[in-house]
Amino acid sequence: MPAVTADTLTLPRLPRLPEATTAWREVRRVVRARRFLEGEGFQVRRPFPGVELADADPFLLLDHMGAVEYGPGEAKGAPWHPHRGFETVTYMIDGVFEHRDSTGGGGVITNGGTQWMTAGSGVLHSELPSQELVAKGGLFHGVQLWVNLPKAAKWTPPRYQDITAADTVLLSSDDGGALVRVIAGDVAGHRGPGATHTPITYLHATLSPHAHLTTPWPEDFTAMVYVLSGRGTVGPDRRPLDEGHLAVLDRGSALTMRADTTWDVLVLGGLPLREPVARYGPFVMNTRAEILQAVEDFQAGRLGVTHVPHVTSADEELS
Ligand code: MN
Repeated sequence: MPAVTADTLTLPRLPRLPEATTAWREVRRVVRARRFLEGEGFQVRRPFPGVELADADPFLLLDHMGAVEYGPGEAKGAPWHPHRGFETVTYMIDGVFEHRDSTGGGGVITNGGTQWMTAGSGVLHSELPSQELVAKGGLFHGVQLWVNLPKAAKWTPPRYQDITAADTVLLSSDDGGALVRVIAGDVAGHRGPGATHTPITYLHATLSPHAHLTTPWPEDFTAMVYVLSGRGTVGPDRRPLDEGHLAVLDRGSALTMRADTTWDVLVLGGLPLREPVARYGPFVMNTRAEILQAVEDFQAGRLGVTHVPHVTSADEELS
């Protein structure tokens, strides 16, 4: 069960939308997440890439980690690696992820918190489960979303936003049966904490069995629904959507979904960048030449260094 819960009856409610006259978004396509091993060998479910880039734009990748109950010594992460040209948004539903980076920054992402890392011009970082989680084992459930940066912002300096569970804006569906956590973007006038370079909306909703969640959605945004757990239906024609499935929605001005069981979903979309994408592993740029430059810069240590024993010696290395 997600770490962040609330009494939905006390929360601000999303507006009731007229059933007959609202332009509900229909489901255009449903894809099943594929399984990959990441980092030191932890399993992720990845619903995209795997849909048309234009359907996911401005998002590049979604990795669903767990939910998994680790035994002692089993938890794994992703040791030092580089990024350039986009943002990683790591949302921990349950468990603890620890983060260190080549700018000397670091922190803990825990139980309902989100770390928003703008890699921009380049950074090296490590993402590992906490030492306590590795030693004792325990529940681990999180999501990492990659948000593309517009061409004009790809060379911005690296930046972090640490968003705690308490920062997340909580709302309820009109029927009081769904808890909506707004991580970023505006939902019916309620603005989440994440500051973004390109406009997006990113929600995690928990619907009780038979709850009905409707929400306005900007007409110029893409829209996707990904199921973390449980079963429900999306769209006016009630297309079934099970755990590990992603629905890509068509155009319209509002979303509608109904739970069959307790149903945890991510709802996300944004204003498409519609710019050329050249990607290679941890680098996402606009041209192949920029990718080659990123590889060269990484190999030459220009994206940062992982161990900086003394500030003075680092200064000498860089001079
Ligand atoms: Mn990373």
